[in-house]
Amino acid sequence: QAKSRGGRTYAFYTDALTRDARARVELVANLRRALAEHEFTVHYQPIVRLEDQTIVGAEALVRWITPEGEMIGPDRFIPVAEETGLIVPLGDFVLATACTQMARWRTAGLPCAFVAVNISAGQLNATDICAKTEAALAAAGVPADSIEFEITESMLFGADSGAESKLKRIAELGVRIAIDDFGTGYSSLAYLKRFPISRLKIDQSFVRDLPASAVDGELVRAMIAMARALDIEILAEGVEEAAQMAFLVANGCTFGQGYFWSRPLPPERFEALFSNAFGAAGAKSASR
Ligand code: C2E
Ligand code: MG
Ligand code: MG
Ligand code: MG
Repeated sequence: QAKSRGGRTYAFYTDALTRDARARVELVANLRRALAEHEFTVHYQPIVRLEDQTIVGAEALVRWITPEGEMIGPDRFIPVAEETGLIVPLGDFVLATACTQMARWRTAGLPCAFVAVNISAGQLNATDICAKTEAALAAAGVPADSIEFEITESMLFGADSGAESKLKRIAELGVRIAIDDFGTGYSSLAYLKRFPISRLKIDQSFVRDLPASAVDGELVRAMIAMARALDIEILAEGVEEAAQMAFLVANGCTFGQGYFWSRPLPPERFEALFSNAFGAAGAKSASR
């Protein structure tokens, strides 16, 4: 009796495994096809200077629009792209698209000073990231300081000397380096003195329960104080409510990003933000 039950459990288990494996193989094939068929697009979310509620920049966030018109968010395909190495061509596309977009906005006189681009470990480990970055900047004709690379703490913590020297060379080009999801990675902060970091982006998990959570409030205040002491810019991610914004302003945070101002938008809708105010508490536009 127990044996047959065990057998069935095992069969069920392998079925589930097979199903997951098959879904994954299918996703990988779909990702390859989507790259070839140009189904990826980039949306832009405003980055706001809190002092005067001005849009100073944007974060580039990739989206997959399937032939059926469904929009798939990066959380559903970036992990697989990273595991399969597809993140390299996908990342190349996002960087090139962001640089070209920046060039158009500069030509149009849109006062958006920079675009931030998420960079995965696999891209940094690819040997030619420095040359690729220079080529992308040159092809679009944008200055290096109009591009910011967002990397995570774990990438710095695990950085070998190769990755470290690449990041330093990229920074020497003038590209700014931001730490994304700050506070969720490793506890060693030694990297803050080893690497040329321009901005810390406080992870949205610390912002979500502000101002009610006293613990999150203290952590955010500590991050702000540390950034200030080190002369690094500080930004809060995931700002959705006026009360969160007020807490951040009162405690000296300088930049914000979140649904309070806008969701990530296709480029033409992002541009429209500069002519239409968000409302009474909304952002205006100006240069950095
Ligand atoms: P991230 O870099 O931390 O980007 C911020 C994420 O938070 C975005 O999700 C954004 O839409 C979302 N967000 C912004 N404001 C709010 C808010 O007020 N409330 C909440 N709940 N969420 C908010 P998205 O676009 O789904 O991207 C998820 C993650 O996927 C990104 O997190 C980033 O790590 C990764 N990703 C996105 N685009 C790229 C890319 O081109 N390359 C790589 N390597 N990773 C990317
Ligand atoms: Mg990011
Ligand atoms: Mg990120
Ligand atoms: Mg983040």
